[in-house]
Amino acid sequence: MTSQTEHPPTEPLAIRARGLVKRYGDATALDDFSLDVWSGGILTLVGPSGCGKTTSLRVIAGFEAPERGTVDIRGRQVVGADTMLPPERRKVGMVFQDYALFPHMSVARNVAYGVATDTEKRRRVRDSIELVGLAGLEDRLPSELSGGQQQRVALARALAPNPDVILLDEPFSNLDASLRDRVRRDLRDILVEANATAVFVTHDQEEALAMSDMVAVMHNGRVVQAATPRELYTSPADAWVAGFLGDADFIPGHAHQGRVDTPVGTFATPHDGRIVVMIRPEDISVIPDPDGDAVVVDREFFGHDQLITVCLPGGTLLRARSGPGTVVTPSQRVWVKVGSAVTFPA
Ligand code: ADP
Ligand code: MG
Repeated sequence: MTSQTEHPPTEPLAIRARGLVKRYGDATALDDFSLDVWSGGILTLVGPSGCGKTTSLRVIAGFEAPERGTVDIRGRQVVGADTMLPPERRKVGMVFQDYALFPHMSVARNVAYGVATDTEKRRRVRDSIELVGLAGLEDRLPSELSGGQQQRVALARALAPNPDVILLDEPFSNLDASLRDRVRRDLRDILVEANATAVFVTHDQEEALAMSDMVAVMHNGRVVQAATPRELYTSPADAWVAGFLGDADFIPGHAHQGRVDTPVGTFATPHDGRIVVMIRPEDISVIPDPDGDAVVVDREFFGHDQLITVCLPGGTLLRARSGPGTVVTPSQRVWVKVGSAVTFPA
């Protein structure tokens, strides 16, 4: 169910995975996993912990063999019924979650690992170190570097052999929250400068939306939706994706002839029968009025905005995100206005 097909198929996909199944004993890590990655740009694979993100990267890179399914890289099959190319023949660079640097090797030797040492390759090693901003630190050991610098060594090592695609498994999970924003922007700049095709894994929805050109959402071992960040957020494929990608409240309703009536208005819907109406807090305004039919039950003030919880006639609770200027207090009566909503079959 990927929606990436709007790109013209002028060149082979960087990665084309179809129907991957991978089990560990009773656990099914990948369950009909399919993904298209177009050349250029950053695709983020996001999903809750344990949904199979790391396994999918390891299968694509060649560190695990799936029970079923195929993987093509730049039009060449690397995993198939009778095919299983070893990692070193796939032209895939991988940055592991724990960086996996060799502790007894210098920065330069870590980056050169896996790159033969003719002149051309030596130049690539030097260029990669420069690209990630570690020039001058070539002789340091990993233990003499900060977490952010170690991550850059891992990135330089993955870039040095000039891979077709680079896979990064939760590259920020070992960094302090205070460093993350900057390192994230730097990483993005480096990947753009290197003109790399990158698949970046995270369990953090905000990070996924902020980092990427395309986002693929994973749930229970498969990709359930792939689209641009804005498309995913505004047109999620189902209620699970909607709730995973941001704050959302759901009102049950009954659709008839393309419409559904709710306590906060009537909405158009392509569905019929029992449905849910998904509303994001930022699409709701709250208007104080003694005649209003809703009641404020809670308010959390964050400064840049506030989250106001209101109780609708009939008892449904909805959250509204408002600017700091809206002044309301619990038990106050208000009108609730909904700007937009998305409906799903119940
Ligand atoms: P994620 O990276 O999204 O957190 P993983 O791909 O690491 O998820 O794991 C997916 C599922 O497969 C989990 O249930 C996990 O426990 C299981 N799993 C992953 N690797 C192994 C392994 N080597 N042995 C047994 N189970 C594993
Ligand atoms: Mg993982």
